[in-house]
Amino acid sequence: MGVEALKKIQEEALLAGLGIMDARAVDEWRAEWLGRKGKLGMALGLISELTASERPEFGKVGNLVKETLEGRLVAMMSSVESVEGQLDWSFPGVEPKVGHLHLTSQTIREVQNIFSELGFRRARFPEVDWDYYAFESLNMPKDHPARDDWETFFIANDKGRIKTGAKGKQVLTPHTSNAQVREMERGELPIRLINISKTYRRQSGPRHLPVFHQFEGLLIDEGVSIANLKGVVDYFVKRFFGEGVQTRLRPHHFKFTEPSFELDISCVICLGTGTVSGGKCRICKGGWLELGGAGMVHPNVLKAGGVNPKKYSGLAFGWGVERTMIMRSGVNITDIRTLYKNDLGFLEQF
Ligand SMILES: [Zn+2]
Repeated sequence: MGVEALKKIQEEALLAGLGIMDARAVDEWRAEWLGRKGKLGMALGLISELTASERPEFGKVGNLVKETLEGRLVAMMSSVESVEGQLDWSFPGVEPKVGHLHLTSQTIREVQNIFSELGFRRARFPEVDWDYYAFESLNMPKDHPARDDWETFFIANDKGRIKTGAKGKQVLTPHTSNAQVREMERGELPIRLINISKTYRRQSGPRHLPVFHQFEGLLIDEGVSIANLKGVVDYFVKRFFGEGVQTRLRPHHFKFTEPSFELDISCVICLGTGTVSGGKCRICKGGWLELGGAGMVHPNVLKAGGVNPKKYSGLAFGWGVERTMIMRSGVNITDIRTLYKNDLGFLEQF
């Protein structure tokens, strides 16, 4: 231990002090080099181990090093003060806002992924389409009363009349089922299609939107049966809503499927019991919730798509994305329009 060690401490301390910009770092520097248990103090304490002739020189250099470091400390403190007078370096920075996908977009991706596990390919079709694909080819002839259920928007030409072509009037797709015959017309069998798209109806209220989303599944192959339909919807429901959720096909009537069903799932709130803590469940009817329509593709629809109904059969289903999404537990939305009010307080929860 000698004066060289003291000079080395000075050199290292000055080096360590370079670039210090905030008060906390200054404090740490002070503790490390000048504090009671700092490196300089510890070195100076070793003076007792020196010979009497070495001590005066050691003491002199020690004092010089101490003065130098103290001077450096004062300089650092004043520079930090002047910098922090303008800018508080310890203040948290402004984090750039990073958004996320809308709940509907998240759900669309999830639905697409679940069906891709079953080999269903997502395809896109026009959202401004002809009456033929929206209705007529789906076994709903012109002026058929069943069409009234689809409160359809028609496209007007520049004279204000409904635009008409070889395939009838032009409409905004009132459901995703226009995909069915369009896909069959591509002429490739078998078909495993999922069509997720915007749909348009003249309706608005707590449970209805004029623009909403549907997803439509279509499977056409030889020997497709109701058992396959049940299997496909069951797979989706268990993946989307949870393993414990049951499905039920309830007879219904649609023009483009035969037979037709409404698909119900066991209520995710009361777990299918119909009661919550002794009272009636307010969400479901007797333990079941209606998800949407399904059925076996009507032979007339297969024929319209150029598919031989004697050789092939198919299953189809079409459900609302928003409806499916809000049925899932944890998402409690009483007015469906809340989804599209751009209320960040609401959207950031998802
Ligand atoms: Zn319930």
